[in-house]
Amino acid sequence: MQNNSIPNKKKIIIIGSGIAGLGSAALLSKTGHQVHVYEKNDRLGGRASIWKKDGYTFDMGPSWYMMPDIFEHFFELLGEDINNHLSLKRLSPSYRIFFEGEQKPYDFYSDLKKNKAIFESIEPGSGKKLAAHLKSGKYQYEIARREFMFKNYDSIFDFINKRVATEGRKLPLFSSMESIVNKNFTSPILQKVLQYQTVLLGTSPKKCPGIYSLMNHIDMDGGIWYPQGGLYAVTQALVAICKKHGVVFHTNTPVSKIKSYNNTITGVQLENGTSIPAEVVISNADLTHTDTQLLGKKRADRTFSYWNKKKMSPSGFIMYLGVDGEIPSLDHHNLYFLKDWDKGNSDVFNKKTLPEDPSFYLCCPSKSDRSVAPQGKENLFLLVPIPAGCEYTQQELEDYQADMITHVSEKMNIPDLGTRIEVSRTFCVEDFVSEYNAFKGNALSGMAHSLTQTAFFRPNNTHSKIKNLYFAGAGTNPGIGVPICLISAELVYKRIANINTPEPLSAL
Ligand SMILES: Cc1cc2nc3c(=O)[nH]c(=O)nc-3n(C[C@H](O)[C@H](O)[C@H](O)COP(=O)(O)OP(=O)(O)OC[C@H]3O[C@@H](n4cnc5c(N)ncnc54)[C@H](O)[C@@H]3O)c2cc1C
Repeated sequence: MQNNSIPNKKKIIIIGSGIAGLGSAALLSKTGHQVHVYEKNDRLGGRASIWKKDGYTFDMGPSWYMMPDIFEHFFELLGEDINNHLSLKRLSPSYRIFFEGEQKPYDFYSDLKKNKAIFESIEPGSGKKLAAHLKSGKYQYEIARREFMFKNYDSIFDFINKRVATEGRKLPLFSSMESIVNKNFTSPILQKVLQYQTVLLGTSPKKCPGIYSLMNHIDMDGGIWYPQGGLYAVTQALVAICKKHGVVFHTNTPVSKIKSYNNTITGVQLENGTSIPAEVVISNADLTHTDTQLLGKKRADRTFSYWNKKKMSPSGFIMYLGVDGEIPSLDHHNLYFLKDWDKGNSDVFNKKTLPEDPSFYLCCPSKSDRSVAPQGKENLFLLVPIPAGCEYTQQELEDYQADMITHVSEKMNIPDLGTRIEVSRTFCVEDFVSEYNAFKGNALSGMAHSLTQTAFFRPNNTHSKIKNLYFAGAGTNPGIGVPICLISAELVYKRIANINTPEPLSAL
């Protein structure tokens, strides 16, 4: 079915070209609307964009391709075969974890037999428990996909209706991810393996609702995939589909104001003073920025003090490193976890300073893709989760860069890392603010996924008063992550097309 579900074709402006902005543009242009995307930066993709230097190509933000079913569904909805756009490889192992105090790292797979054997070697009896845990995660994922993820909420009764109450009783909605995992697994190593996913949701295992143990199913059954060229290949694919359907992109064009009259959208004003009329506006920009800057005090749905009280996802200390020579100790995705998990999490979620000797993530995509680094060299992406709004001086940041190189080199057995670096760029709190208008420099573009900041409790994707103003992106529903932002785009499409079903669309 094509171009026939929305009778009145509209002029639509999208502010921001993040994944949800591009996804919304693709769905709406495919159904015949006239779509213009205004992006403040010189490149498209928002956090999912790239930085290139001296033969290296770095994904600037996301690097884990998870939930392949959601990507496939989205491309299908657009009438596209994903395999014509992305060359996908299932990573095996999925990732390597270095644990503080352990002699050697452990590899984990999206293969139950292999993972059971590893679990058994660490905690006898845990292999069988893993199988049961993943089975229950799969069940939770299926319910969430059918009842929660693809649903727009207008009132608490949309969230807790009869159907959800029946199914919901079987879901661990009110316990934490930590309690669910720790009940079944006593080894601190295995507890970490099954809880680290909460960082991807911008929160800690203590605060993360137990239903997110469905992340273990996504990780260990669905697998970790890699599109050749990096996650930016997803951005490129969406841009190509948008262009095919006539979307017009305006880069280097920040929007300064959303315009409305009598609570109806009239268009936007650009930072250069030009006014552009539109019947519908979708803001994919940071939601706090949208409320406080683009709408302003009188029209915003939420006040600055509301935002200030919310727990944002952490910020990130990032280094993009081009390294001479190969690094045998690494796999594609590498994680280092501190022994004192609680202190590490508290340093990230409760403090305001750069954490000392932290847990970290090191991506080495050149292990799977020779196009991202020159021959015989490695491409590294270092990510240390740090507090949103973290404060430091320029000198402290420079010292931290040197400390982190030493820390990574020691913990992941990379001799002479410091002397082998030929390309280096640091990206930290102030860069998230200046590049993406991110509130407190939060990295994942939204609030942390705690129980009170998820589903119905997350900011809605419509404005309470201004008609034809919508929000798309990680700040609204369903939340953080590239596939989740594609769902956010579908939810905005459903709003505009007046579709109120809880399940994924089968056609446009
Ligand atoms: C370091 C890092 C690692 C991550 N790792 C993963 C991962 O491995 N897997 C995963 O699935 N997800 C990951 N994420 C999360 C994921 O990248 C985000 O949730 C997702 O990309 C956010 O997309 P979005 O649609 O909300 O838009 P954003 O990417 O936030 O883009 C918003 C856009 O709006 C633009 N904008 C802002 N203000 C204005 C304005 N006034 N006028 C015009 N344009 C404006 C910005 O420039 C930006 O381009 C990661 C994120 C980061 C930062």
